[in-house]
Amino acid sequence: MRSINFKKLNNTAWYDGVYTKCQNSKTHVLDHSLHFASAVFEGIRIYNYKAFKLHEHIKRFRKSAEILGFKVPYKQNKLEKVCKTLIKKNKIANGYLRPLAWRSVGSMSPHSINIKIKTFIAIWDWPVYYSEDAIKNGIKLTISNWRRPKKESAPTQSKCSGLYQICTMAKNSSYKKGFDDALMLDTDDCIAETTSSNIFFVFKNKVVTPLPECFLNGITRQEVIKICHKLNIKIEEKKIKFNQIKNATECFVTGTAAEITPVRRIGRLTFNVNNESITNKIFSYFKNNII
Ligand code: PMP
Repeated sequence: MRSINFKKLNNTAWYDGVYTKCQNSKTHVLDHSLHFASAVFEGIRIYNYKAFKLHEHIKRFRKSAEILGFKVPYKQNKLEKVCKTLIKKNKIANGYLRPLAWRSVGSMSPHSINIKIKTFIAIWDWPVYYSEDAIKNGIKLTISNWRRPKKESAPTQSKCSGLYQICTMAKNSSYKKGFDDALMLDTDDCIAETTSSNIFFVFKNKVVTPLPECFLNGITRQEVIKICHKLNIKIEEKKIKFNQIKNATECFVTGTAAEITPVRRIGRLTFNVNNESITNKIFSYFKNNII
């Protein structure tokens, strides 16, 4: 990822109803969310001054909070308007919006009854997540020791901060080993996703992706499934055992930040990355017709 000095980010942000400089936005160190990870967030791409899939992202943002048992105190329309205003105020052509809602100060135990919810939206320039080279030549994934918890054990359909602990540990460990990211399995030895993107494989011209039970049903993932239908590419959502992926010819990951990025290696397994690939066909359609 291109390095951004977030400490010095001085774009105009929005904090509980007020447009303010990002650097000046403060919160209390005793906020519940800082201690108990009671926060939800979103990541929204801006392409050519327009927030991509804004409605869907804000909807998921509000839903993520509901799953954790709190309400984002602003309506869908209001938050969409704020995102559009931030793009204009900061003149961001290609970038990223980061809405965040969290339980503020008031309890130092896990309970969070009657605690005020704070809402913040930041924005920054962010043309690519992986390097340009990664998009052209594919990324390398290591296999994480951390497993995705089952939906009975965690709020897997909420984009909540707490679930990112294992992602951070997995991602850090992948960097230390010289990889771009980590593939995470579920507790049944099936493929789940990476630390921040969904994953697809191509088996004999058929695209296969795991069922989104223990991980987010990404907005980009849903778009890729639609693209496959449009392009008459066979697509199936099903459980994929880790030992089956050695038979796949291609692999790619999808996400707001990652867009559609080919994978050239998982551990010692290698996959095709070239212009004639199915991955490239889907990515070209996404680039030329969707975003
Ligand atoms: N899984 C995780 C853990 C993520 O953080 C993301 C990024 N939001 C995704 C999948 C992909 O979701 P989307 O396509 O909606 O960005």
